[in-house]
Amino acid sequence: MAIENPVQFFKNLPKKKCPECGQTIQEQAESYFMECEHCLSKKAE
Ligand SMILES: [Zn+2]
Repeated sequence: MAIENPVQFFKNLPKKKCPECGQTIQEQAESYFMECEHCLSKKAE
């Protein structure tokens, strides 16, 4: 079971979407947040 194409493997991973604005969330260190950075900053106020 060898991974033929690592890029294709990562493409198959489901992308998270922000429930607030529907924007695709970039995988980052704080990946446990549901919302994107934009909506998180709005909530922080
Ligand atoms: Zn958002």
